[in-house]
This record gives sequence, structure tokens and C-alpha cells, in this order.
Amino acid sequence: SCAYQEQVPLRLYQEGEDEAYLYKLHLIEELKEALESEHSPLFMNYQPKLNLNTAKVDKLEALIRWINKEGQFVNPELFVDLAEKAGLIVTLTRWVILQVIQQVEQWNKMGYQFKVSINLSAQDIQHDEFIDYLLAIVKSHNVATTQITLELTERDIADNEALVVARLSHLKALGFAISVDDYGIGQSSLAKLKTLPVDELKIDKTFILTLDQSQADQDIVASTISLGHKLGMSVVAEGVENKASLALLNDFKCDYAQGYYLSRPVTADKFIQWYKTYESPL
Ligand code: C2E
Ligand code: MG
Ligand code: MG
Ligand code: MG
Repeated sequence: SCAYQEQVPLRLYQEGEDEAYLYKLHLIEELKEALESEHSPLFMNYQPKLNLNTAKVDKLEALIRWINKEGQFVNPELFVDLAEKAGLIVTLTRWVILQVIQQVEQWNKMGYQFKVSINLSAQDIQHDEFIDYLLAIVKSHNVATTQITLELTERDIADNEALVVARLSHLKALGFAISVDDYGIGQSSLAKLKTLPVDELKIDKTFILTLDQSQADQDIVASTISLGHKLGMSVVAEGVENKASLALLNDFKCDYAQGYYLSRPVTADKFIQWYKTYESPL
């Protein structure tokens, strides 16, 4: 009957939901363990940013990775989001900060002076001990604050704006660089951008992935680059997957290009191997 037919999809839907919910709970428990474990299944990958003015790689983005007990790669967007919801993000970010700064110290000792960016969540920057923690780790590892960039989205900044802007200004005064990630897909307001203590603008990859095939994207990207420059910012394009897009970004006077065309995010060791034999694609 009619009633029966209506119940069937409803039940299936709920079963699917339960499964997804249980999977997420399971991931949260595993993530908690991972953050406490000495031989952590978490690790950092690094993706180079190519300086288009010098054709050199002098900056990198640190991106977290997790291979879980089942040997599966867990999508970072998924588990970072879960960490935010489960109250684990401050712990996760502290773990990331320690790993990255230890790595930068090691590179410094090897004679490589890279600038490395760390992704933050809204809760990190709002946490009262964030700046003290970051500063203590940086100082105890002989890393210059100017070697560390902090990436946040406009959404993360808007969450508690007055507080966050004050924190960012403080961090900037200490020498850290501030980057606006995923620019252009959120509630981008030019008025706001003007007032933010920001050094770097990262154009979201949705505008870059098919840049070479879209006149609209080329117009948006070219004007965003000139806007960033007028506001005194360095502009990074993320998601550069082919030579044609790289050439366009170079023509548009973009400052940095990041994407699979240059390198995927890789372990620190693999990055150094790549870096040693790197030849400019420009
Ligand atoms: P995001 O910060 O915008 O990082 C850039 C994402 O674009 C990375 O995905 C990177 O692997 C990917 N990407 C880089 N080049 C290309 C390309 O040419 N084509 C395509 N299709 N993608 C490219 P990933 O590593 O999966 O990270 C996804 C998001 O997860 C990040 O976006 C960031 O929001 C978050 N995330 C990653 N690591 C961390 C972390 O350590 N802490 C926090 N809070 N968030 C992180
Ligand atoms: Mg980022
Ligand atoms: Mg984020
Ligand atoms: Mg991004």
C-alpha cells in the first residue's frame, strides 16, 4: 500500500545515516588514540609553492595525513572537520605545529631556509594559549617566526572577528605571516579584506583548476591578483594542474603557484629529493 511504499525509502535512509554516524564516531575514537600515540599514524606532507618572480621554491604548505589502522587513507577534510566538531582540533593543531617546526629546524640545520605554512581552524586562533604555545615551540627549536605562515579562511576569521583580527595583528607583529586561504568562495568582502592584517592571499583552487579553459576564471583571477597587490599582499594560486594555467598566472603577475603540476604534497624526505633535482618549469 501507499503507507508501506513510503516507509521503505525512509528506513533505508535512516540505516545509511546510522552507518555514517557510527563511522564518524569510530573515526573520532581512532583520531583521539592517534593524537596520543607515540608511533602516530598521523604525519605531515609538504607541498611546494613556486615563486614566480624568482622561479625558485622558497615556501611550502604543510598538510596533515592519516593512514588508519585498516591501512586506509582518511580524507583530511573529513577528519579535520570531525576534529573541529569533537573538540579535538586544538590538540591536533598543536601536534601539527610541533611536527612542522621540528621539520623546519631540521631543514635549517641542513641549510634549507624554507617558509612553511600551517593551516589553522577558527578554534585554534580563538584559544587563549595559542600564541604562547606557538611562540614557545618556535623559540625552543631555533626557528625564526618569519619562517612560519598561518593559513586561515575568511570564515575562520569572521567567526569572532574582533578577537581574531587582534590575534592576527599580534602574530604579525611577532613576525609570523598571515595568509587568507580559499579566497573567493566564501563571503569575500573587499571592505573587510582591506582591514585585515594579512600578508598573503590564496586564490581558491576552484578558479585555478580549469583556468586555461575558462575566460571567466581568467578575468576573476587576474583582477583578484591586482586587488591583492593593491592591498600590499602576495598572491598564491592553489590547484595549478597544467602548464597552460601556470603560464597564465605568470602573465597575470601572480606571485606564487602551488599545485600538482609542480608537485603533489609529499613527505619531507621526498620533497628534499625532488627539490635537489628541481628544474624551473617557467
Ligand atoms: P587547503 O588548506 O586549501 O589545502 C589545499 C588542498 O588542495 C590540499 O588538499 C592539497 O592536497 C590540494 N591540492 C593542492 N594542489 C592541488 C591540485 O593541483 N589539484 C587539486 N585537485 N588539489 C590540489 P588536502 O591535503 O586534501 O587538504 C584539504 C583541506 O584539509 C585543506 O585545504 C585544509 O583545509 C585541511 N587541512 C589539511 N591539513 C590540515 C592541517 O594540518 N590542519 C588543518 N586545520 N587543516 C588541514
Ligand atoms: Mg591551506
Ligand atoms: Mg580550514
Ligand atoms: Mg585552500
